[in-house]
Amino acid sequence: MSIRAASRLFATAASSNHHKVLVVGAGPAGLSVANMLYNKFADSGKTLADGDIALIDGSEWHNYQPGWTLVGAGLKKKEDLRRTVASLVPSHLTLHPQHASTFSPSTNSVTLSSGSTLTYDYLVMCPGLQINFGAIKGLEEALKAGTRQSQVGTIYSYDGCDQVWDAVNGFQGKKAIFTQPKGIIKCAGAPQKAMWMSRHKWAQQDKKVDVEFVSGMPSMFSVPKYSKALAALAEERNVKTSLDHDLVSLSHTDRKATFKTGAGETVVKDFDFLHVVPPQGPLDIVKNSPISDASGYVPVSASTLQHTEFPNVFAIGDASSLPTSKTAAAVTGQTPVLVHNLHQLMESGRVGHAAYDGYTSCPLLTGYGELMLAEFKYGLVPQETFAKFGFDQAKPNRAFYHLTKDLFPFVYFEFMTKGRWYGKDAIFPPKF
Ligand SMILES: Cc1cc2nc3c(=O)[nH]c(=O)nc-3n(C[C@H](O)[C@H](O)[C@H](O)COP(=O)(O)OP(=O)(O)OC[C@H]3O[C@@H](n4cnc5c(N)ncnc54)[C@H](O)[C@@H]3O)c2cc1C
Repeated sequence: MSIRAASRLFATAASSNHHKVLVVGAGPAGLSVANMLYNKFADSGKTLADGDIALIDGSEWHNYQPGWTLVGAGLKKKEDLRRTVASLVPSHLTLHPQHASTFSPSTNSVTLSSGSTLTYDYLVMCPGLQINFGAIKGLEEALKAGTRQSQVGTIYSYDGCDQVWDAVNGFQGKKAIFTQPKGIIKCAGAPQKAMWMSRHKWAQQDKKVDVEFVSGMPSMFSVPKYSKALAALAEERNVKTSLDHDLVSLSHTDRKATFKTGAGETVVKDFDFLHVVPPQGPLDIVKNSPISDASGYVPVSASTLQHTEFPNVFAIGDASSLPTSKTAAAVTGQTPVLVHNLHQLMESGRVGHAAYDGYTSCPLLTGYGELMLAEFKYGLVPQETFAKFGFDQAKPNRAFYHLTKDLFPFVYFEFMTKGRWYGKDAIFPPKF
C-alpha cells in the first residue's frame, strides 16, 4: 500500500463519524456543492483532507431528471441519463451510502438509516422533495398496471418516462389529457412539455387527437411573459386549456378523471390517454425535523442561502424554501453563492455576502425542433441570457431546442455535478 493510500485510510477511519462539511443528498445540488467547495479550497492553495467533506445518499442511482421529458418524447434512452451515485463521488469526498433519517441541529448531528450517527461542523441540506403518487386516488394502481395497459402515465419517474413514449407513439385514441397539480412542483413547465411533444408527434403521425391541458394552477406558467406566449400557442394549436382544475382521482378501467375546481366544483372528464403529474411536497424526514419550517422545507435566507435559525446550516435545491422555481438550472445559480458564503464562514467565521437573485430557467419544449427558453429571477422577472443577441426567448427556437436536447445533459455530467458550472457564468467562476 502506498504512503498516500495508507494515510488516506487512516484519515478516513479516524474521522469517519465526524466531517467538517456534511452534505445531505447527492443529487445535482449536493454533488455540485461538495465538489465546488472542495475545488474552491484547492484553488486557494488550502486543499482539504480526504473525508473533510462527506455526502449522505442511500440511492444507488443518480438520474438526470430533466432528461425524463426527452425520454417521454422518444428523444433519449433513460439508461443513458443515469450514473451510479458512487461513480459520481470522487475519492477525496466520503460517501455514506445510506439515507439520513433524523436531524439534530442543536447537537450538529444526523442519524443514518442504519442507526449510526454522524456529526459535523457545517451541514448542507440537499435531499430534494417528495413526489406524492398516493395523493391521487387510482394513480398508483394505474401505473402498476403499466401505461400501455392503463393509458395512464407520467414522466415524473424513472419507471414511467419510457412507458409514456411507448403509449404516445402507439396511441390510437381520440382524447388525451395532460395534468398539472396545484402547488409547488419540480420544473413547473414539464407537465406542459409532455403535452406539446405528444401533440406534435400525433400531428406528425397524422392522428386526429383532441388534446387538453388541465391544470390546478391559475395560469399556463407563473411568469406572465411566458404564460401569455403559451396561452397564445394553445389557442393557435387548438389545445383546450382548463385552469384551476386539480386532479383528485382517476379510474383507468373506466377511463375517467375527476378534478376539483378552485370554486369547489367536481368535474369529471373522459380520456383515452391521461398524463399525470402528481402533487409534490417536502420530504417527511425534513418536514418532521427541527431543521424545517411550517412549510416543511428548509428555511434559508433568499439571498445568502444560510439557514434562518442555525448559522452552520445551508440549503439549496428542491429541499430549500427558496421562493423560486425548483429546477436544476436554479441549482446552478445557487451553488456558487452557497459555496462562496460557506467558504467565507469556514475561513473567517463570518458568512460571505454573495447574494442569490432567484435565477432559474425552464426550457419549454413546444414541439420537435422548437423550444421556448424561459429564464427569470425573483419576482418572476425575465432574465434572458440570449436577449443581448437579439433573441426574444418567448418565441420557440431551434437553437434552444438543441441546447436542451444535446448540450445540457453533457454539461450536467461533465461540469455541473463536478462543481465546475456556474449558472449564467457557465465555466467562469463568478466574482462576488
Ligand atoms: C420530469 C422532470 C423534468 C424536469 N425538467 C427540468 C428542466 O428541464 N430543467 C431543470 O433545470 N430542471 C428540471 N427538473 C427539475 C430538476 O431535476 C430538480 O430541480 C433537481 O434535480 C433538484 O436537485 P436536488 O439535488 O435539489 O434534488 P434531487 O435531484 O431530487 O436529488 C436529491 C438527492 O437526495 C437524495 N435523498 C433523498 N432523501 C434522502 C435522505 N433522507 N438522505 C440522504 N439523501 C437523500 C436522493 O437520493 C437524491 O439523490 C425536472 C424534474 C423532473 C422530475
